[in-house]
Amino acid sequence: MPTDVPYRDESLTVDERVDDLLSRMTLPEKVGQMLQLDARGDVKEIVSEKLAGSILHTSPAKMLEAIDLVAKTRLQIPLLTAEDCIHGHSFWPGATIFPTQLGMAASWDADLIERVARVTAVEVAATGIHWTFSPVLCITRDLRWGRVDETFGEDPFLIGELGSAMIRGYQGGGLDDPTAILATAKHFAGYSETQGGRDASEADISRRKLRSWFLPPFERVAREGCRVFMLGYQSMDGVPITANKWLLNDVLKEEWGFTGTLVTDWDNVGRMVWEQKVCADYAEAAAVAVKAGNDLVMVTPGFFEGAQEAVERGLLREDEIDQAVRRILRLKFELGLFENPRAPDPERQRAVIGAAEHAELNLEVARRSLVLLKNDGVLPVEPEGKFRRIAVVGPNADNVSAQLGDWAGDSGQVDWLPDGHPRELTETILDGFRAVAPPNWVIEHARGADIERLVPDPEGHTYPDGQPRPPISVGAPIDHHLIDVARDKAVRADYAVVVVGDTVNLTGEHKSTATLELQGGQIALLDAVAATKTPMIVVLVNSKPTVLPPSALNAAAIIQAFNPGMRGGRAIAELVLGHIEPSGRLPLSVARHVGQQPVYYNTIRGQHGSRYADLTQDPLFAFGEGLNYTTLTYGDLTVTTPSVPADEIVRATVTLTNSGARPALETVQAYISDLVTSVTWAGRELKAYRQVEVPAGETVTVELEVPASACSLVTADGRRIVEPGDFELLVGPSSRERDLLRAPFRIVSP
Ligand code: BGC
Repeated sequence: MPTDVPYRDESLTVDERVDDLLSRMTLPEKVGQMLQLDARGDVKEIVSEKLAGSILHTSPAKMLEAIDLVAKTRLQIPLLTAEDCIHGHSFWPGATIFPTQLGMAASWDADLIERVARVTAVEVAATGIHWTFSPVLCITRDLRWGRVDETFGEDPFLIGELGSAMIRGYQGGGLDDPTAILATAKHFAGYSETQGGRDASEADISRRKLRSWFLPPFERVAREGCRVFMLGYQSMDGVPITANKWLLNDVLKEEWGFTGTLVTDWDNVGRMVWEQKVCADYAEAAAVAVKAGNDLVMVTPGFFEGAQEAVERGLLREDEIDQAVRRILRLKFELGLFENPRAPDPERQRAVIGAAEHAELNLEVARRSLVLLKNDGVLPVEPEGKFRRIAVVGPNADNVSAQLGDWAGDSGQVDWLPDGHPRELTETILDGFRAVAPPNWVIEHARGADIERLVPDPEGHTYPDGQPRPPISVGAPIDHHLIDVARDKAVRADYAVVVVGDTVNLTGEHKSTATLELQGGQIALLDAVAATKTPMIVVLVNSKPTVLPPSALNAAAIIQAFNPGMRGGRAIAELVLGHIEPSGRLPLSVARHVGQQPVYYNTIRGQHGSRYADLTQDPLFAFGEGLNYTTLTYGDLTVTTPSVPADEIVRATVTLTNSGARPALETVQAYISDLVTSVTWAGRELKAYRQVEVPAGETVTVELEVPASACSLVTADGRRIVEPGDFELLVGPSSRERDLLRAPFRIVSP
């Protein structure tokens, strides 16, 4: 064991230690450091033969095996361990699983999301994992895409606010904080601009469009010190993202000054050979990837031989590899892994995994994630005291997996949690009503319908790269018996809570959907319950917005609950019973019909007409929408700085009057519109928001601030600038034109 070598000497600087270690490494050792391999495979081969610098998807047992194996390697360079802990420590049995990122985004609460990420980091750090592949900063554009649940929605400003908060939470007090984990801004960049929602297809996107909408959240977190960036999968303008030197080097590293580590996505390097077919072999692909600025290569085992061969063939210089290895080693030294490999700590795990205060925070975020979309006055349901019977029906009413969503427990990405998280940790909606309703109320349950049947994929059991192809979801047939049982319970009930939505088999990578409709027997169930005339409260437990049938649209109330996590069921029961106020706001637009895709609020001005011949283009529910249990009126919008230079702040006030009987937590949204622009530009863009408590019967004055520098656009030649001139400030409870008060202001040349 090399103990007396300079790279082990803590009194030297990181640069000195990196230089020393690098000078001792052979080419295979260097190339191995660049590999991040899948620990579900043979860990001995990964660590001892491929000399991998990093592993992912490591079960608790394999983590210990890997650490032992590293101790037997020549230089004993500690491993960097990574996992997709994207809404909690997803694959650690008994960890706290929060609502999905989309669910959390509905809170619009950056501080809350920072606290969630901090708690996640505390749980993750106790288990020997150093790094989470979160947050996703992709913009949702097409709801058919399978990964909408992983995003913060459709708006670049909101994504930037929430993503920045999440990264602060993960990275804690800095790399030497033992509870800090590395955060990853992903997927850099443009991955979500799919064609027809198809996952990882060629993205039809110009550099200007990237700079206009897709890059701003990434730029913000790069400048704020996010330690890792991960690529997407797509190609743009013929260039696979892995080879995109302009984006990875010129923009990320040179323009934004990113000095962190860049990791590819899963087998991106191999995909350039076998999928995108732009490289003839792994040597070529390795050379392209390294030259474009990638540091860690995720799950391309063939990179090990490929990169060495590339050096032999003169496609790549060893000093180009050195640059990447240097960044990886620097990260390991900065994390202090040579002194303390941050191995799993069983005592700490007992103290923090699923701790009571984490469950409390989870309930808080679940409450804040719920969006009340419709209410004819039925909610909150009658006060305690009276006897009531509630029928809680539907396939997602008592369904742990639908509540936790993708990337959690048994959602399919890892193999050591076949039964998911312990059942008792999740409160389903049925559990929630049973726990929260007055003891003399009767809570009845019936599944009412099935969503899907799983059948083998006709294309075979594996993908071309040998990974298993999951079975495919086909809509379950309508089961009249299930419907009859549910209808009978609904008929006798005072209220029918019908919980519908989707499943993890209709969510995620490779699982984009062609339609947005409720699958299986769900529409028939809604129709049957609607026909009973019992007041119907529809609860949507899904990964992304669903197109609703008339029976749901005409329901007495609609609550949107994007996979609301382990405590989501209780939060929903509390909301229905009026123990809490509804406060969530949509982080994305909801379509009336799949044919409206893409539908988002910040569209570019200029189109013939504003509707299809056969359908409005108006979304069913707009970005920012969400109801309270009270009536709020916005008034007196005043810009107090009607004329400002581009380096100052536009300030305004607006009053909110609560004329109802219940308090509100209102999200006051401030959009701006640049009245005449040198290039076509969005009609309005969110630039600020404030969350304020408005007690019943009171009026509050809210102060808003928008930096004039944020009132920018991207010129035809790709520069982001402010064009002095006339603007409007639009303030209100949602992005809908009709909801917004308007006031003019001017930006003048400094
Ligand atoms: C996904 C990433 C994820 C990685 C590791 C990829 O397929 O696109 O988001 O972090 O796998 O699981």
